[in-house]
Amino acid sequence: MKVAVLVKQTPDTAELPKVSADDVRSGKVKATMVINPWDEFAAEEAILLGDRYDVDAVAISMGSPDAVDALKHALAMGVGAASLVDSSGLTGVDMWTTATALAAAVKAEGAELVITGKQSVDDNSGAVYAGVAARLGWPLVSAVTKVVEIAGGRITVERMVEGAQETVSVPLPAVISVGKEINEPRYPSFMGIRKASKANIPATPAASLGVASGSGKTQWTNIRKPEERKTKCVIIDGATVEEKAAKLADALLAEKVI
Ligand SMILES: Cc1cc2nc3c(=O)[nH]c(=O)nc-3n(C[C@H](O)[C@H](O)[C@H](O)COP(=O)(O)OP(=O)(O)OC[C@H]3O[C@@H](n4cnc5c(N)ncnc54)[C@H](O)[C@@H]3O)c2cc1C
Repeated sequence: MKVAVLVKQTPDTAELPKVSADDVRSGKVKATMVINPWDEFAAEEAILLGDRYDVDAVAISMGSPDAVDALKHALAMGVGAASLVDSSGLTGVDMWTTATALAAAVKAEGAELVITGKQSVDDNSGAVYAGVAARLGWPLVSAVTKVVEIAGGRITVERMVEGAQETVSVPLPAVISVGKEINEPRYPSFMGIRKASKANIPATPAASLGVASGSGKTQWTNIRKPEERKTKCVIIDGATVEEKAAKLADALLAEKVI
């Protein structure tokens, strides 16, 4: 069975971008780009499924040619193959357009299971997997915490819901998105990094997968810093714990917190 892992390249949120005077003049800031951390869990699960079943995994990313670095990270971890959907030159691309191109790439790979991360750390919509499933017409199970079994043309998974653990079974082909509870992503080995660095990753122009500039319906009309929250600190005092607790409860009631 072929499993497609969707990985996005995102800025490294662990590092503050260094802004030089040239950057300010050009209006562009260079950030270190890495594999979206949530997608490492998806890549790890594809590798683990390869230990349990006859599975070939392929990592797919849509982005600029630089996104091959995220794909190489997946390869270095142990995913068997990678493929880039090259979106260079495209503007006005939204979640739906991204999902359209990714779904077409999944189809071209002949995958029967798609594993994605829970969200990206930059655009954060947590919507692409729903779009991919809708475009493919496949069932979607989100927030998966365990793959219980793949058997009889179905996948059975556990997912976390408020206060409970659900077991869900859907027919294949299917799309699942996974959270951090599912596994512990491995660090790429030295040999893995060396092998991945030499990999020749095929690229397909997004335009050949039914995506054109401006075909996205949602547009960024404004991006701004959220207004700073005004906060004040109040020290609740009293002779006894009971008195302090009563004053605290009154203050919370007055602020309509409780
Ligand atoms: C040139 C450009 C122009 C854009 N213009 C707009 C615009 O006009 N309006 C707008 O709303 N947005 C725009 N975007 C943002 C773009 O739509 C989102 O980056 C994209 O849809 C992914 O959404 P997300 O990051 O919120 O993913 P999420 O839905 O949070 O991601 C969930 C999971 O889906 C998978 N995934 C997501 N993106 C990719 C990817 N690219 N490749 C592989 N797997 C992926 C990953 O597994 C990820 O963990 C633009 C982006 C680009 C590059």
